[in-house]
Amino acid sequence: MVLPILQTEVTRPTYWQISTTGKAVFYFLAALTVLVFVVGVAQRIRRYQRASEEPIPRIGDLPGTVTGGAVTLVTNVKLFDRDFYAGLWHVFVFWGFLTLLIATTILAIDIDIYRPLTGDSFFVGDFYLSYSFVVDAMGLLFVVGVATAIYRRHGISLDRLWGPYSGREDVLFLWTLFVLGVGGYLLEGLRILGQGFPDFETVSFVGYFLAMLGAGAGISEGTATAAYPLVWWSHALLAFWFVAWIPYGKPFHMLASAANVMASDDDAGRRLPGVPLDPAADTALEDVDDFSWKQLLDQDACTKCGRCSSVCPANASGRPLDPQEVILDLKTYREERDAGGEELPIIADGGTSVIASETMESCMACMACMDACPVDIEHLTHFTDMNRQLTEQGDVDGNVQDVYQNVMQQGNTFGDSARSRPDWTGDLDFEIPDAREEEVEFLWYVGDYPSYDGRNQEVAKSLARVFEAADVSYGILYEDEVYDGNDIRRLGEELLYVEQASQLIAAFEECEFEHVVCTDPHSYNTITNEYSDIDFAEFADDPMLEAPVEGYWNADGEIGVHHYTQVVEDLVQSGQLSVPGSLDHTVTYHDPCHLGRYNDEYEAPRELVRATGCDLHEMPRNRAESFCCGGGGGGLWMDLEEESKPSEERLREALEDTDAGAAVEKFVVACPMCMTMYEDGRKTGGYEDALEIVGLTELLAEAVS
Ligand code: SF4
Ligand code: SF4
Repeated sequence: MVLPILQTEVTRPTYWQISTTGKAVFYFLAALTVLVFVVGVAQRIRRYQRASEEPIPRIGDLPGTVTGGAVTLVTNVKLFDRDFYAGLWHVFVFWGFLTLLIATTILAIDIDIYRPLTGDSFFVGDFYLSYSFVVDAMGLLFVVGVATAIYRRHGISLDRLWGPYSGREDVLFLWTLFVLGVGGYLLEGLRILGQGFPDFETVSFVGYFLAMLGAGAGISEGTATAAYPLVWWSHALLAFWFVAWIPYGKPFHMLASAANVMASDDDAGRRLPGVPLDPAADTALEDVDDFSWKQLLDQDACTKCGRCSSVCPANASGRPLDPQEVILDLKTYREERDAGGEELPIIADGGTSVIASETMESCMACMACMDACPVDIEHLTHFTDMNRQLTEQGDVDGNVQDVYQNVMQQGNTFGDSARSRPDWTGDLDFEIPDAREEEVEFLWYVGDYPSYDGRNQEVAKSLARVFEAADVSYGILYEDEVYDGNDIRRLGEELLYVEQASQLIAAFEECEFEHVVCTDPHSYNTITNEYSDIDFAEFADDPMLEAPVEGYWNADGEIGVHHYTQVVEDLVQSGQLSVPGSLDHTVTYHDPCHLGRYNDEYEAPRELVRATGCDLHEMPRNRAESFCCGGGGGGLWMDLEEESKPSEERLREALEDTDAGAAVEKFVVACPMCMTMYEDGRKTGGYEDALEIVGLTELLAEAVS
């Protein structure tokens, strides 16, 4: 007769085969581990507390911050971006690890709290069976996930995982997780085998399977029972060591990256941290004490996944810039300085600094690195601080110096006279309204390149024709327009930036209008995201700045700021502009970084291209994954050593990697800087006969003419 098993008998023995002394040693080691862990975390937190002030409020809306961060973390959504398999293995590891952690905590609560208090255990019966099944299933995901990560690192040896800072620690981290995962199952298998295969233990299906394998291989109950304590101690000691290691090495990224995602700034990059009154004293990066706590957290959160470097156009072009390396160079130097190491200039010319000037000069401020980073590291806040430092030290590229001079003397980056700014309008057979003289709905900020550069003047003229065709109420500032300052700000020239912004806003304030519309995404970015952030009252007494603006401009967002593609798309949607779909060109469209990645505008330009009737073929790197033309972050003004120009690589992609291939006739751009870079790349790359670079405004003007 088979006796029914009591619910209370459906459980597993805890500390099976472990003596009372062994248990005491275990608890002692557990307490020591927790102590080492807590001390390590406390040291990290104290270091963050000693950091310089963070210029941007990070956790103003606590519930929103936590909810948003938690969603990113639990879905692992950023890990799927650009690499589905990396997302998948990470989801397995993340949820497997979390489940094992929760399961261990539940068991500890039962053993150390519930049992002593009640004399009973809840780790029995149906609860135990469900628990065992879930833990086995999720543990399996964990092991499969870690094994996949190991395979990607050692098997297919993904290049991006082997950056200059990748090494033994990363390998040790992965293998420790793997051995912990497999070790747990090994223990379970030995116990099931040693206990003679209790029927209900089939729910622990992985351990049961291993027990069967063991039995099949000739391991007896006695051998399994004898081996169990040895494996148990090995497993426990490895787990203790791993937990103690967390705050001191690679595993800390698990905590730092979670905190970093929570503290991330949705506007990072497109809106640089507050304009400092004194760049050197406030936000330039002179020494490690100038890092804010968020910058320290950024450095600690880096998982060394190499995604940022793999998408960096500067890196791909052979420029001396690897964004992962920069973040980790800064981290390493900070740790060395904290340990009493020698002080070095953080950034300078001449090879004696932590980061070389050329490295920062190579950055196109395209934000691809930030977009690709799964843990929301804000590279551009580090880079801007270093650029501010370069500006403060006077270590500025000669061409950029000239641009600064031009802006200071003429109010534009070309150095042409301010009076000649509106000359391009003279070629039109209609007169563009003067927004200084009459009230308009749209104040058109034309920008430097469309005003002064011959090729881009065609872009400006065609946009004027489109506005005329739509009978839009619009006007320009004529001679009173000045450079908007977006790119010199990214190069670290803050005070000149404020000067330009104040002059432009002062000109705006002389006019009656409802919206600003920009030709250039760079202008659009800074006017929409940064101008309203500047407190001009702070600069009222600065002898270097005229600051005719009082306080903040457009702080309530009453004035809408738009890129022209958004305005024209609205005109088409509302029926105010009729675009006959009469064109039959085969085209591709390049997303400008400052419109797409910076400001999430991907569809308006595409809708307009389609409205013209053109056959639009996407390049593989489109929308957020677009590849920079090379002109951002001052790249347009610098002569840099490159293996191949980013613009040439992009044109190659247009002709070789779209569905239409070499049939692509026109490469459509919506940014004047892109126009300049691609016209250049077309010549230097030998693509002059292969395709034409056209502004979207030109395509629209052709369609509506
Ligand atoms: S902003 Fe662009 S160019 Fe600069 S480091 Fe990042 S990816 Fe590279
Ligand atoms: S900065 Fe971000 S993307 Fe780059 S290696 Fe570190 S974690 Fe990966």
